[in-house]
Amino acid sequence: MVPRPAIVDTYNRFMGGVDLLDMLSALYKFNFRSRRWYIYIWWHTVTVAVINAWSRYRRDLEKLQPRQKALPLRRFQASVGTALTSAGKVKKCGRPLSSPEATPTPPRKRKTPELPPDVRKDGLHHFPTWETRQRCKHCVGHFAHVYCEKCRVHLCLNKDRNCFQAYHHSK
Ligand SMILES: [Zn+2]
Ligand SMILES: [Zn+2]
Repeated sequence: MVPRPAIVDTYNRFMGGVDLLDMLSALYKFNFRSRRWYIYIWWHTVTVAVINAWSRYRRDLEKLQPRQKALPLRRFQASVGTALTSAGKVKKCGRPLSSPEATPTPPRKRKTPELPPDVRKDGLHHFPTWETRQRCKHCVGHFAHVYCEKCRVHLCLNKDRNCFQAYHHSK
C-alpha cells in the first residue's frame, strides 16, 4: 500500500475531458504555416474557445430544444466564422457575401447555406433588389421577386405579406 498524491486523483477525474478536447481539436485543423511561433498558440486558443462554445451550445440546446438536432462541430465553426466576418459589416468587409462575378441576372444553381442569425438580424445593409421570382425563404409557400443582397434569399414584400421584415426581425 502506498499513499496516492492528490494530483493523481485530479488527473484521473479530468483526463477524459482533456483527451476529448485533443481529439476534437485534431479534427479540423487550420491548415497554415507560420514562422512566428506564437501564432500557433493564438490559433490553438481560438480552437479551444470554439470547441468549448460548441460544447456549451449543445448542452443549452438539449435543455431548451431537446428535439432539435445540434449543428456538427464543423458547421458550428463555419457559422462562428461567418458571424465574425459578416455580422454588423457592410458587404465590402471580409469575404464578399454575393458572388464576385455578379452579373445582372447571375445563375444561382448552387444552394447557398443560410447565414447565422447574428448576420441575418444585424440590421445593416440588407438591401432589397428585384430578381426573377423564386420561393420565399421565410414563408416558403409563396414566390417572391424581392431578394436580400446580404442574406442571398428571396422574400415576399407586397401588399399582403412582408416576409422581408419578418425574416430580418430580431424577435
Ligand atoms: Zn414569404
Ligand atoms: Zn438580409
